[in-house]
Amino acid sequence: DQDPRIAGISSAIRIIPDFPKPGIMFQDITTLLLDTKAFKDTIDLFVERYRDQNISVVAGVEARGFIFGPPIALAIGAKFVPMRKPKKLPGEVISEEYSLEYGTDKIEMHVGAVKPGERALVIDDLIATGGTLCAAIKLLERVGVTVVECACVIELPELKGREKLGGKSLFILVEGE
Ligand code: AMP
Repeated sequence: DQDPRIAGISSAIRIIPDFPKPGIMFQDITTLLLDTKAFKDTIDLFVERYRDQNISVVAGVEARGFIFGPPIALAIGAKFVPMRKPKKLPGEVISEEYSLEYGTDKIEMHVGAVKPGERALVIDDLIATGGTLCAAIKLLERVGVTVVECACVIELPELKGREKLGGKSLFILVEGE
């Protein structure tokens, strides 16, 4: 049985065809942020799931993981750690490369932001191929952090990104296409 809040969240997400290029159905969460009930319900659903799991780190992936991560971190009493695109973080970083359709990309995290043995939740707005979340998991595990789960508002199940997470569990609120 689906939580009654999910339908409102789903209908608050706007789909923009052919953005940023032909064939992509862009899932636009900015309209979810305009809907005060749907936005609150989104944060509440994550908080209800993670509040009693001893999570000390919420790691958010740039850019839209920076929108959903901090309110969850504050509510569960965890710190927020930004995982950023290359050359954005000013301190010493560790980085993890991942492949895209064409070429590669990288995410970076500040050295010292997390300690070995900490328990983390990784959050982003959406999982497509799973490459981004996979890199985030690897980065955290390299420094001895336990990734409890990954969470996204939206999954595009046709792209089978879930299978790229090496058995790590993924929690999502809605499916897109
Ligand atoms: P991936 O690494 O392929 O799982 O891609 C996930 C990242 O790309 C997330 O940070 C998403 O915000 C973004 N993304 C990929 N596909 C879409 C889409 N159809 N609509 C909105 N964002 C997307």
